[in-house]
This record gives sequence, structure tokens and C-alpha cells, in this order.
Amino acid sequence: MAGKMHVLIVEDNPADARLVRAYLESTSGLAEVMTAATLRAAAEMARERPPDAILLDMSLPDGEGIDAVARMHAAAPNVPIVILSALQDEAVASQALQLGAQDYLIKGRVEESDLRRALHYAIERQQLLQRLARSEARLQDENAILRHLAAAAGRLFATLDERSLVKLLAQEARQLFGARVDLYARGAGLPDTFLEDAFNARRPVISDDRSRLAVPIAGTSGRTAWLLDVWERNDPFTEGEVFALDLLRRYVTIAAQNLALFGELQEQRSSILQLNHLKDDLIAVLAHDFKGPLTTIMGFAELLELGELEGDEAESALRTIRQSATRLANLANDTLELSRIDQGELNLSTDPVDLGNLMREVLQSVDPSKRVRLDVAVDDPVVRGDPARLRQVFENIVGNAMKYSAHDAPVEVRIDESERDVRVLVTDCGIGIPPDEIRFMFDRFSRGSNAKKSKVKGTGLGLYLARVLVERHGGKIEIESEVGRGSTFTVCLPRVLDGVGGVLRVFILTGDHQLAPYITHELRDRGFATRRDRTLAGLLQRIDIEPPEIVIVDLDTVSEDVAPLIDRACAATPPIALIAIGSAAAAQSSGWKATLPKPFLTSDLEAALARAQRTLQPALRR
Ligand code: ADP
Repeated sequence: MAGKMHVLIVEDNPADARLVRAYLESTSGLAEVMTAATLRAAAEMARERPPDAILLDMSLPDGEGIDAVARMHAAAPNVPIVILSALQDEAVASQALQLGAQDYLIKGRVEESDLRRALHYAIERQQLLQRLARSEARLQDENAILRHLAAAAGRLFATLDERSLVKLLAQEARQLFGARVDLYARGAGLPDTFLEDAFNARRPVISDDRSRLAVPIAGTSGRTAWLLDVWERNDPFTEGEVFALDLLRRYVTIAAQNLALFGELQEQRSSILQLNHLKDDLIAVLAHDFKGPLTTIMGFAELLELGELEGDEAESALRTIRQSATRLANLANDTLELSRIDQGELNLSTDPVDLGNLMREVLQSVDPSKRVRLDVAVDDPVVRGDPARLRQVFENIVGNAMKYSAHDAPVEVRIDESERDVRVLVTDCGIGIPPDEIRFMFDRFSRGSNAKKSKVKGTGLGLYLARVLVERHGGKIEIESEVGRGSTFTVCLPRVLDGVGGVLRVFILTGDHQLAPYITHELRDRGFATRRDRTLAGLLQRIDIEPPEIVIVDLDTVSEDVAPLIDRACAATPPIALIAIGSAAAAQSSGWKATLPKPFLTSDLEAALARAQRTLQPALRR
């Protein structure tokens, strides 16, 4: 206890009072003593100046025994009371202690030192009790906050869009702190520098006087998208409250990540549903389109078998059978290609392809009557790609030009170039495509209304496949058309510059059996040619044979030292861009063009690829 002890003696017997006072004052200066002869006077004095301790006689003119203790305690609830009694009565003593007295001394048997010690202990116990009461009150407050947090977490995790999530957080903060809460979206002007600074922090920021809290919140993209300004509160924020708000902020971050995953799942679900629809359509179309040629083949075969056709007639029947069989074969090929695309198994080779030569081959197969004029206006129309697939594209486009125009009408194929691309233009003078239908012609099963009326046979699959294949070669395909006058189909494919171009090759090094097919699928879906290796040695060998533009390395599954790979990537001409997947610490090396911590979303993979591509030579970028 610091300073002098201030003691109030409540005793109606002046002799006793004097004795006690003498005891207390004997070690001079340590105690300051006041005396009251009645409870009323004592209560008055305690109110005016609360003492550190009260020495209470239990038989007073205005109060007796236990009653006196209870009344004194009520008058000075926070002051320790030590009983002075003439009797040694255990029962009374224990009752007095229950009523709030701290200790019990028997008059006449008290030594000076006993008295002082009893008073000291009483005061200390009282202080301890008060501290306990305060921490119990704080625990209760914190308990209330925790209960609120648990309920808020439930509400937050049940919220299904980002804006509602953040609004709910603002509402929870309002309720929790009884403060004013303002919400700012990214891009909205912030009223002061306190908030501007807080926007770039990753956690709650508190003002110096603890009266204001700013909380940056990540959106579904992972970046800070919102800011909460919690202010106009009477009491300063406690550590517990800051912790609580930070916890809520973390809940929102997790809920936002869940939302992103949920969105991706929704997308996947709808694309599965869409695929299912397409499958149904495909079955319907195929069932219908297979029947026609099959009927023709079976009919003519039967007539030939019965010997009912001879000479020219028999020859023409055989020609019809061959044409119908060709249609069936084409249909089967298209269907196969379609299913490869749907399964993500469309593997494109990346050979140099001379489009002039390719087009001559195409014309030989689709234009026996030599209706099509070929004009190659480029010296070296070389692109990188898959010759069989490119052939399929041009067979379809040139075949259509012939199919949808009169038998003897000319068709022109011109190969020229722009700065980046080799262009193939196929022009006919045929039926054309109605303007409002052009944009649908590249969809599956889409056919022009005039084509359907004209009774020209078709499935609406060819142009869809042509578009997908051209896009996977990094190119594009366009139509210009006028009904009754004709159409021009233009295919642009990236030119080979400095020995590179066309489809970008991305190699993947991972030992993860689930990750590998996922990344491969996503990459092929975006038109990259991919190869996967399980070991670093295998990958380095492959790089020697056909250098890729990009390599993705799953550091978590590679036990070897990747330094040789980083050296090789830097030394290659052109340099190879490396992307690291895995724990953030492992990807500290400067050799990586992009890093992708696990877990990642498809959008993260896309962003990493874009970052890596930006570091490639301009001719290689898409
Ligand atoms: P199809 O098997 O019907 O020919 P495609 O996918 O190759 O399927 O073509 C889709 C539709 O585009 C055709 O049905 C037709 O309406 C239209 N089309 C394609 N090429 C031409 C063209 N050269 N002239 C007019 N219409 C065309």
C-alpha cells in the first residue's frame, strides 16, 4: 500500500477506541486514524472520505452484532472491514465474514502487530477482490463479443454475393461497436488520408487516439475492394474489439474466396449442362444425317446386287454410293473432332505449314472439276500448326463455297499477308448469308435459313470446327457476305517470324496426378500446345528437342534443384518464360516470370500465363 493507511475506527467505548488508536499510531506516521462512536456517524465519514479500512466494534448504540456489519458494509461497499469483538464466537465470526467483513479480532487479545497485519491483509484482499470483479466484467464483455462473432460468422458464410457480404459486415460492426460505419468501394473517392493509407494496409488500422478504425476488405478477386470506416464512438476501441473486427474481416475474406470458388463451380456446372444439351442435339442431328446417305447406299447396293442396273446407270449408282460414303466419313470425322474438343483432348502439332502447298492439296481433293482459282500473293506463306487440322479447315470453307453456289460459278482463293498474319480469302458468288445470321454461323449446328431452304445438305458443324481450330492456332476467321451475291471467308493465321509463331508451347513439370490433367485441359482450351513431364531430367531433354515458349513448374512436387532449368530458360534464344506453382517461399528466385501460390483459380492461371506471355518476344505474344 502506498502512503499512509487511513483507518476508520467505529467504537463507542472511548477507552477501547483510544487503545486501538494508540496501537495504530505508535509506529508514527504509518496510519491516519478517525474515530466514530455510532454506525450513522461512521457511514457519514466513510461517504465523505472513504477510508482504506474500517475497524468495527459489533456492539454499537445504533447497531448490534451481524446487523451492524451488514449496515456498515452497505454504507461502504468497497472498504474492507475488520471486526473487533468482545466475545470469541465462531458462529458470529463466520457470519460476519460472509457478510463482507475481511477479518475478525478479539478485543483484549490483540497485539499491536496483529492489528496492523490484519488491516494490511484486509486491504490487500479487498483490492484483489476488486481486480477480480473488474476482470470478470471484462470477460463477460468479451464473451458477449465472441457470441456475437459466432452468430455473425454464420450469417456471413450464408451470404452469396460480395456486395451483400460487405454490407452485412458493416451492419455487424455497427451493432458490435455502437459506432457509425461508412462503407467505401474501390475507386470511390476517400475523404481523408487516414482512409487512403488504410486502403493499402492488409489489416485494420486504428487512429492514435483509438477513436477510429479503418478496415480494408478483400473482394472475390483477392485484392482490397472495400474499406470500412468505423467511427463516432464514445469509448476508445479496446484491443479485444480491434481483434474482433479483424476476425470478422478474415471471415469476409474467406467467404469472398468461397464465393469465387462457388462462382467457378456454377460456371462449370452450366458448361456441363450446356455440353449435355449439345450432346442431345448432336445425337438428334447425327441420327438424322446418317440416315440419308445410308438409305442411298443401301438402296443402290441392293439394285446393283439384283443386277437391275447396268452400264452408265451402274456407274452413276456407284458414284452416288461413293459420295454418300464420303459424306458419312466426313460426318464421323467431324463428330470425333467435336468430342475431342469437348474432352479437351484436341492436340495440335506445331509444324511449319506452307499454306500455298496445303491449299493445292485441298483443291485436288475437293475440286476435281477445277472450278477454284488459286492466287498465292506471298512468297513464303508459312505458319506454325497442325497440317491435318488446317487442311480440314480449308476443305470445309472451300467445299462450302462450291456447295453454296451454282455448279459452274467461279470460286477464288487468295493467299496474302498482313504485318502479323498470313491471310487466306475464299470468295464465291453463291447464295450468301442473311446479315442478321452471319454472327451465328460459327455456332454448332447453325445453318443459314437460305441454305436450309435450298435443300443443300449440311450439319452446321463444319464452320464451328473451323473456328475452334483456327482460334487454337492463334488465328481468327471472319465472314463478309451479301445474300444472292456471294461470300468471302477470311482466315488469318500468325505468320512464322524468326522461326517462331503460331501455337505457343507450354510445358508442365509436375508430379501431381490431379493437377496435371487440370492444367493441361485449361491450357489446351486456350489454344496452347502442351506437354507434361514428371521429372526435371525428362523436361530438360524435351526442351533440347523442341524448345517451348513457356514452362510451368510445380515446385511442391519437384525434388531436384531447379537452378539448371532457370539457367537453361534464360540462356535459350528466344528465352523461355518460367512460371512457378507452389508454396510462396519456394518461388523466391528471380528466375520466374510469374508465380502461382496454391490453391489457385483458373483466373489466376490465366493471369500468370498473361504475365509470362508479356515477357516473350513481341512476335510470340498473342
Ligand atoms: P454445313 O454442313 O451446313 O455446310 P457449316 O458449318 O460448314 O455447315 O456451315 C454453316 C452454315 O453457314 C451453312 O449451313 C450455311 O448456311 C452457311 N455457309 C457456309 N459457307 C457458306 C457460303 N460459302 N455461302 C453461303 N452460306 C454459307
